Amino acid sequence: MKIGGLIDISTKDIPHKSAMVIFTVGCNFKCDYCHNKYLLQPNVGREYEITELMQTIRTNVLVNGISISGGEPTLQPDLLELCKEINTIGKYISIDTNGSNPEVIKKIAPYINRVALDLKGPIDSEKLKKITGVNVNIDRIAQTIEFVNSQDDIGFEIRTTFVVNLHKPEDINEIIDFLKRSEFRGNFVLQQYQFLEGVGEEFKRVFSKPEHDVLLNLLKPYKDEKFPFKIYLRDEIVGYCSIDELSV
Ligand code: SF4
Repeated sequence: MKIGGLIDISTKDIPHKSAMVIFTVGCNFKCDYCHNKYLLQPNVGREYEITELMQTIRTNVLVNGISISGGEPTLQPDLLELCKEINTIGKYISIDTNGSNPEVIKKIAPYINRVALDLKGPIDSEKLKKITGVNVNIDRIAQTIEFVNSQDDIGFEIRTTFVVNLHKPEDINEIIDFLKRSEFRGNFVLQQYQFLEGVGEEFKRVFSKPEHDVLLNLLKPYKDEKFPFKIYLRDEIVGYCSIDELSV
């Protein structure tokens, strides 16, 4: 497996768990606002045998979960083998994905505990092309969502990062409408974009951070609605907070 970085312990990547984070190399999207652009270069990191990776995981007694992130982990040919191995030692497994690879998600489903799907924008080919820089097959993303949604024993988070100059308020309305129609049963998280070095200096002035009030106003119309899913805000003011607890 091609790995670009490992974090021994993180308390931010899987809610209520201490997790080791594995960053896989390579992605099939080219989002200009990507925080992990170094992982999109083919020559970064190195190949790990699954046995070597498992040795590192086994000796990390401080964590009870493993977050497999990227990049896009579903592009790694030995992801299934890794998930099976981690599953045998009983650690909780969470996969980050852009949702473009439903076949791989279906294969690894029996061995994982959680999927965190980055929904880059509304399920709309033109909008997703603008946001991701590639032609996105929206049917494949919808298939991934439908499949994970049908797996009651897999925790499911769908998150969208709101980037000023890239997303419009109506995009969030479209996403929430889509989740309603899909009878989504997990957590939807609206995330605040923040510039980090990994995005690259050339994009510093292209994209900007939405202020807390902007995000609150986006969620306001949904505060008293009853959904089969929960809505959360993740930003620098509230951290990670359900809209039920927000003063909107
Ligand atoms: S899908 Fe994620 S990892 Fe891939 S380019 Fe976009 S932000 Fe980066």
